[in-house]
Order: sequence, then C-alpha cells, then structure tokens
Amino acid sequence: MTYAWSILPDEWKPILKERGLRPFRADQILQSLYRDYITDWDAATTLPLDFRETLKREFPITPAREAAVSRSSDGTVKLLLEMEDGALVETVIIPANGRLTQCVSTQVGCAMGCAFCASGSKGLVRSLKSHEIVSEVLAARKYGTLTNLVVMGMGEPFANYDETMRALKLVNSGRGPNLGARHITLSTCGVVPGFAKLAAEGLQFELSVSLHAPNDALRSELMPVNRRWPLRELIAACREYTVKTKRIITFEYTLIDGVNDSRENAEELARLVRGVPMAKVNLIPLSPVEHRPDFRTPPESTLMMFLDVLMKAHVQTMLRRSRGKDADAACGQLRLREIERSGIK
Ligand code: SAH
Repeated sequence: MTYAWSILPDEWKPILKERGLRPFRADQILQSLYRDYITDWDAATTLPLDFRETLKREFPITPAREAAVSRSSDGTVKLLLEMEDGALVETVIIPANGRLTQCVSTQVGCAMGCAFCASGSKGLVRSLKSHEIVSEVLAARKYGTLTNLVVMGMGEPFANYDETMRALKLVNSGRGPNLGARHITLSTCGVVPGFAKLAAEGLQFELSVSLHAPNDALRSELMPVNRRWPLRELIAACREYTVKTKRIITFEYTLIDGVNDSRENAEELARLVRGVPMAKVNLIPLSPVEHRPDFRTPPESTLMMFLDVLMKAHVQTMLRRSRGKDADAACGQLRLREIERSGIK
C-alpha cells in the first residue's frame, strides 16, 4: 500500500505509469491533494469516477482523527491526533510574533530517555511514517495558515531519519504544501550520523541541537544519548555540518535549577559553542514535568546571570519563554495525561 501523503510530487508520474495508470493525471492529483486539500478521493471531482475508485484502493488518503484539542490563553492550540492503528500523536500550533508555528512529532513516545523530558518517560511505542507526519501538518490547516514548522514534538527525528525527511520534503515542495525550507527546523538530541546525512541532502532546513549540558559527565546523566555520542563527537559533527552547509546551528539549552545553571556551566557552555562557527544558543527555562518533581525552573536571577555570562563571552544567545503551558502544550504532556486517564498506549 502506498499512502497518497507519502508520495513526493515528482514521484506521482512514474508511480502511476508503473501501475498502468495514466501519468498525465498526476497534475490533477496534486492539485486535489495540495491546492484543494481534499481528505477523501471522492472530493477530487476533476477526476473520473472509476479513476477515483482506483486511487482509493491504491493510494489511500489518511487524515488523522482529532482525539482532543486544548487551547491555551496565549492562543496556543494543542491537538492530540489518533493514527489508523490508534497510536496517539501530539502536535502544537503556536501563534507568536506574526507567525504561526507548528511543532510536529516524528515518533510515538521516544527511546532517548532524556531525564527532563515527558515524551521519553514511557519509552518508544513506534516511529511515524511519512504520511502520518504529513497528516499532522494537514490537520493543523483548519487552525490557520502555517508560516513555520519545527520538528520538536515527540520523538527523535534523526532516529526516524528517512520517514521524517520524506515528510519534510513533501511539505516543502512547491507542488505540495509549499512551506519554505528556511521556515522548517529540525531538532536533534545529538544522533551524530544524522548530521552528515542532512548535510548531504543540500536542503536549506534549519538545524537545532539539544545540548542541555556543557560537559560529558552532566550530559550523560541528563541525556543517555551522550554515552553513545559524547560531546567531542557531537561538536565535531556540528562543526563539519556548519563548514559543509554554511548554515547556522542553534544549540538548545534547557535550564534546570541547581542542575545545569551555574556560572561555571555558563562559562563552560560558552567555550564549547565557540568551537562551532556561527553557533547560536537558545536558553529555555525548564517546563516542569510530573515524573521529575525534583527538576525545577531556575529563578529569574539565575536566568539573567546565565544569559549575561554568554553574552559577555560574545555568544549569540536568546532567552525563550515557554508557551502553551495551560494547554499542557510543553513537551509530551497532553499525550501523557490522556494515557494516564484512559490507559491507552
Ligand atoms: N528529540 C529532539 C526533538 C524533540 S524535543 C530533540 O531532543 O531535540 C524538543 C526540545 O524540547 C528539545 O530541546 C528538548 O530537550 C526540549 N525539552 C524536553 N523536555 C523539556 C522540558 N521539560 N522543559 C523544557 N524543554 C524541554
């Protein structure tokens, strides 16, 4: 079975031909899918009836079911989507600064097990297929026209590289939803082989790296992935990526009270990121998670001190404020709630 939302625009003609179908229909198909945004082949009225029946059979369209919607007072909308097999996936739509940014998931749960992250606290259920990731993007359309996409929902995109890239290429395509590559950001916890693969694609996607600690001892404690790919290897991969693509890398650093927010941590972080040309740092105050009540958001004075150390070291740094908190929109929380309430997996 080939799902309609997994086929890249250029692939339609050869796929139709291979199956003895009329390749000239490809343009009409693409118009129906990504201009009219149909969710059912019956709505593709420009196509003959018998051809629609064939499409239904061979290339099903797979809209996700909206299992829950929660809205935050700041305008953030969080959708809990149910896939064909009942898997629950969350996606968040965030209006801010004249933009509408969607945060998508690439896996159900996550295998990475970062200590502070709710998505990983129950392990990995399964990876999403490209058509399912695309279905998240298309499900968001009724809440407005997206300007940006960030792959920062549940899951590790570089641990589901092929399906994630296929979905992003489709969303980026001019004959698809046509979202600009520079408006699409991938975030990885540091799965090193992904960097060279992404660099080789020659695409203009943005890349963020979740760092969260400036030395191996602390990083391995917070992020088990660091035991597989320690900082030396991660930073080398970042440097190679930047040199090859001439593109900026943004390091994400979630500040946890008394854990990774000391002056020494900030100084060490500054030294570390200066090893990567054009690097930027985003500081994010921890969004508290139920499974780790000992992890708290640092006080404002600590956030300011940390920011100040980086700025004085001439590291380009932004302090981000978490949004969507009252919609449980931070990091795996809605899905977790639903699981706890209903016992679903
Ligand atoms: N697996 C990818 C993308 C998903 S997480 C990655 O690790 O980058 C998106 C971002 O949210 C990551 O930077 C992650 O570390 C951060 N995050 C996870 N839990 C958080 C929490 N409780 N508070 C603040 N940020 C968190």
